[in-house]
Amino acid sequence: MSRIYNFASGPAVLPEAVLRQAQLELLDWQGRGYSVMETSHRSPEFVAVMQETEGLLRTLLQVPAHYRILFMQGGGHQQFAMVPINLLGPKFNADYIVTGHWSRAAAEEARRFCNVSEAADTVAAGCCHVPAQVELRLDPQAAYAHYCPNETIHGVEFDYVPETGGVPLVADMSSSFLSRPVDFARHGLIYACAQKNFGPAGLTAVIVREDLIGHASSRWPTMLDYRAYADAQSMWNTPATFSVYIAMLVLRWLRAEGGVAEIERRNIEKSRLLYEAIDGSAGFYVNRVRPAHRSRMNVPFALRDERLEATFLAEAAACSLVQLKGHRAVGGMRASIYNAMPLAGVQALVGFMHDFAQRHG
Ligand code: PMP
Repeated sequence: MSRIYNFASGPAVLPEAVLRQAQLELLDWQGRGYSVMETSHRSPEFVAVMQETEGLLRTLLQVPAHYRILFMQGGGHQQFAMVPINLLGPKFNADYIVTGHWSRAAAEEARRFCNVSEAADTVAAGCCHVPAQVELRLDPQAAYAHYCPNETIHGVEFDYVPETGGVPLVADMSSSFLSRPVDFARHGLIYACAQKNFGPAGLTAVIVREDLIGHASSRWPTMLDYRAYADAQSMWNTPATFSVYIAMLVLRWLRAEGGVAEIERRNIEKSRLLYEAIDGSAGFYVNRVRPAHRSRMNVPFALRDERLEATFLAEAAACSLVQLKGHRAVGGMRASIYNAMPLAGVQALVGFMHDFAQRHG
């Protein structure tokens, strides 16, 4: 069986080596005669998986000692609620920088818990850029400021880290996690659902500065309190054991590939290739995002002639290039080119796009 190139936005492509390893170990994990899914999360062998996953993450992202790495379930959406629940403390105001679908969704959920002030909102302007630092209307008294460094649907990525002057900065890194280094000194908390660059769905990583833990009111469920996870090494209840195991394999793969700096270099190369193909198509393909703010992970593009979309998707699929349909909110196409997408996959897509434009242009 030959692998296709899968441009899904998430759940998304995983490294082939990871899938092969999981397949190899599925019936007989490390000579035990059972799989990793069939053992207690309290067993020494699974505790070792948890510890290795956390250790690899800490090393690969250079997470400082005073930041805790927490694993939980509930995805990005649960963090939309957990962030205000845990970070508001006695305050009642939070700033949200809205640059697309996901930062807006985070802001809407936060309204259930506090006054949300939009420090910027580029949605009406079409989500084609990120606001400049000077444009941000930040409240120095806010409990925290939230942004989404990479908007998965709109393909807009921050080219800088907002300066919040001491207000804890929170980042929804779901679709850019592990694609580039993180400047922890500038962030109080980052979170990411796993199903893009980190593993399967069912796992969410939260990396949080220690002093921001322990401020949730006791009226909230324990499961929504970061402290419960911090106090119990992320095993306050049963974690998504198989997802954690796959994430560990993904991190081992990333380390073997040269780590985050090397993967960032490749991500720059892959995304440049694709944007050059779009920009060099004499308008046959269009991406409206300002070049400095174009995502390295999610590349949305439209065909000048919308009537060709179905043909484009069908012909691409026939060339083993799949899951290229854009999100229903924006239409068009979207190629998600996460860490596990090899350069050869992007080259194949670019070759196909060129050929398709020649034939239909
Ligand atoms: N934030 C971002 C940036 C996302 O891309 C997604 C999912 N695509 C989410 C949040 C929501 O994640 P989940 O479906 O795990 O709740």
